Amino acid sequence: MAARQPAPCLRCSQMIEASEVALVADFRLRTVGLEDTVRSPQASVSICVTCTDLMAKGDEPNERTRPLDHLVYELVQEMVSNDPSFAFLSWIALRKGRGLPAPTLIEPKVLKAWNEFRRVMALPPVIDRPSEDEQKRLKEAS
Ligand SMILES: [Zn+2]
Repeated sequence: MAARQPAPCLRCSQMIEASEVALVADFRLRTVGLEDTVRSPQASVSICVTCTDLMAKGDEPNERTRPLDHLVYELVQEMVSNDPSFAFLSWIALRKGRGLPAPTLIEPKVLKAWNEFRRVMALPPVIDRPSEDEQKRLKEAS
């Protein structure tokens, strides 16, 4: 695992320590249509587990007026819907925030139980989505 630095959450601005679970969105730009492709350096933003959970369940940004937000929303929603860890970690963060005892995934018995839960609840990681061409045809047909 690559070392990372503490970073503020994109949504709530709370500092996310390097040891904490979070999502990191990496961005890089590149030119197209030029003979030599020029690439930007990579930039990253972090999203804490609570905001990850809230973003996935929140309002969908308008794809036309906020296309980058919409793209991030779709990726976050896909990750959260494919892995119950985000909801579980958000629940742990809520309990900690209220000063209540909370399990940690580094406790061997909790980690074992959590991994067993995930194994039992394993669902297909992705759903079949229509291709872009199929989506265009469906939009035109409606
Ligand atoms: Zn946050």
